[in-house]
Amino acid sequence: METTEKIVEAYVRYVKGWATIPNINCGKHKEIDLFAIDPVSLQRYHIETSVSISNSFRALTTKPFVTGDHKDRGKAASARRTFGFFLEEKFGAPAVRQALAGYGAGEDCRQIIVAWEWRKEAEEVAAAHRILLWDFRDIMGDIAELGRHDHTYFTDDTLRTLTLFVKASGHKSASAVMPATKERAPRDLTAVVANTEGYYLYENWIHRRARLHRGSCSYCNYGRGTQGATEERTGRWYGPISDRAEAIARLKSLKHDNKKECGSCMS
Ligand SMILES: [Zn+2]
Repeated sequence: METTEKIVEAYVRYVKGWATIPNINCGKHKEIDLFAIDPVSLQRYHIETSVSISNSFRALTTKPFVTGDHKDRGKAASARRTFGFFLEEKFGAPAVRQALAGYGAGEDCRQIIVAWEWRKEAEEVAAAHRILLWDFRDIMGDIAELGRHDHTYFTDDTLRTLTLFVKASGHKSASAVMPATKERAPRDLTAVVANTEGYYLYENWIHRRARLHRGSCSYCNYGRGTQGATEERTGRWYGPISDRAEAIARLKSLKHDNKKECGSCMS
């Protein structure tokens, strides 16, 4: 998952309080960035994140989308910022609609595009298609606001990192808190988050084995495991552990004979 997508998921979970499923594979090379359900109203949401920090490709546009351009190396970056791309390849694609139907989402499912910015025309097109536009900068602001209350403790790694970053940015000697960020602009924030995804240990006490994963590993999903797995009853996840050496030491300290670093994500 891209870092910006992780930030959007953290926002949806902790600020909005919705349940989320990221990266739903719909087949036919189609994927849903994020599916969310408001547990109170049961309103369903299909959320696509399109955030670029490049000046030329930052804004969502209403320029025409030529089918296939999103796969062309020279044209992909700008094609993927057009409304037509989202309508054709994302929200309107039959494979996507079919996958959503499996989650009980029909015509009333709200569609959301998260972008860094957009032009006025884009707003009109969005309204005509009943698509909501969310400004990524507002999302960051809301997360920062949530983290400003000192008693708030996030178990989510992305939120914790953002909160630290906000605190460090407002601090005169920021270098004492996060050395790498001092002379950088906030746009490097995504790099900061990406480097702190953390390590997670899974211990299965029935089979007496343990595995160490990176958070982004598909077997790990930041300590949530694989979808539909029964691991909750037979074992548990520990993490995130930010330091690799510490995570390996923790793995070695477990009593099981069968303990390894994940062959898929740790090598
Ligand atoms: Zn792994």
